[in-house]
Amino acid sequence: MSEILDAVRAGATPEELAGTPLPATYRAAFVRRDEQAMFEGLASKDKDPRRSLHVDEVPLPEVAAAEAVVAVMASSINFNTVWTSIFEPMPTFGFLDRLGRESYWGARHALDHHVVGSDAAGVVVRVGSAVRNWKVGDEVTVHCNHVDDQDPSSHDDSMMALNQRIWGFETNFGGLADLAVVKANQLMPKPRHLTWEESAVNALCNSTAYRMLVSRNGAPVTQGDRVLIWGASGGIGSFAVQHVLNSGATPIGVVSSASKVATLRELGCEHVIDRAERDYRFWTDEHTQDESEWRRLGRDIRELVGEDPDIVFEHPGRATMGASVFVTRRGGTIVTCAATSGYMIEYDNRHLWMKLKTIRGTHFANYRESWAANQTLIDGSVVPPLSAVFPLDLVGEATLEVLHNRHEGKIGVLCAAEREGLGVTDHETRARLGDRLTIFRRHDREA
Ligand code: NDP
Repeated sequence: MSEILDAVRAGATPEELAGTPLPATYRAAFVRRDEQAMFEGLASKDKDPRRSLHVDEVPLPEVAAAEAVVAVMASSINFNTVWTSIFEPMPTFGFLDRLGRESYWGARHALDHHVVGSDAAGVVVRVGSAVRNWKVGDEVTVHCNHVDDQDPSSHDDSMMALNQRIWGFETNFGGLADLAVVKANQLMPKPRHLTWEESAVNALCNSTAYRMLVSRNGAPVTQGDRVLIWGASGGIGSFAVQHVLNSGATPIGVVSSASKVATLRELGCEHVIDRAERDYRFWTDEHTQDESEWRRLGRDIRELVGEDPDIVFEHPGRATMGASVFVTRRGGTIVTCAATSGYMIEYDNRHLWMKLKTIRGTHFANYRESWAANQTLIDGSVVPPLSAVFPLDLVGEATLEVLHNRHEGKIGVLCAAEREGLGVTDHETRARLGDRLTIFRRHDREA
């Protein structure tokens, strides 16, 4: 057992934590360079993250002046860990090697193991000499935008930085571990009314949805807008629904089961389409799409809200993009951040240009946007969609659930926290939010 983790668990003072040595190694979830070809020839669905994700001790790296070490109480499964664990669309070691060639500090990342995970909630246990705003003992969450602030291209919108990276995906030392090494400009205050596992599931997905729908860098929603949200009870979708509602607009959620419909209704999303029940066949074969099926979706949306959507929140990609471009209203926007079902997209361009529609690509969020998104959690206007919690040792099982779309909302992972339910220091806000904090957990159990 690590002395520093014991001290954190025992509620040591900042002075005690600062005086406790860091271990030479720590427990982490990682993939291995020598296994990156292990699934060659298999279909994605047959690749098994339980085989590729290992949990074991790894060396703790040297910490740079602008970095902090966080004792990770909890983390979460993001889809990027699914991609890393099945080595798709490519193994992540190439990202680490590129970072390794950049600088002395970058070279630490180019290892034969890749510690994954792009979310964390925990306690700062060390800060480098250049860290100003954070100190040992601070309770934090971590966003995953890894930016080199000495690069001029990072100083307008840091997501435009030429060497912008996602921590724990394009860098090493990620959050699915007992300790994580992060840049100080990834830290944000932990919402005090949330448990560790509730705090850990938000930063990546909430910030992404915030940039796509609220920030001026996305397709900002205005009151009265109608927004079609694919995967509306999934990771980014469940935050998208909440941001649309908070903007005074109307979400139309698309999901694939009755249980997910119920979850969304409880979240406040009145208009929901069950795509499994409606059985849309946008593709008749691998190469051909059926416009009459796009029309059927369009009619279903009009039936629910009377109009075509102003914005479509797109991420399934190949499976849905043709339909998304078609159903968006004249002059509307398709905002996309992903392509879960395939990234070679096909749509009928006539529907885009003749009706003056826009496709807007966005990716994660800059620090300002992540901070603003975190604030929505702190003030309780957004709730964490935590549906299940796994221990770190079962990270492969948790990742498999997401790969096979058997989850709702977000899956939390307990790392250094001894059990669930710890970490709450603002009981008043927690009481005010009441059952809203457990919407996804209750529905997941009933499913
Ligand atoms: P989840 O798996 O939690 O949710 C995605 C949902 O999309 C599923 O639950 C499913 O909902 C729906 N979906 C999946 N396949 C299809 C399909 N063929 N047709 C229609 N709907 C489908 O994942 P996340 O929300 O966390 O992430 C979604 C995607 O966004 C991933 O590819 C991820 O890598 C990417 N991403 C990108 C980010 C960025 O910064 N660029 C940040 C975060 C995520 P249902 O079955 O209920 O319809």
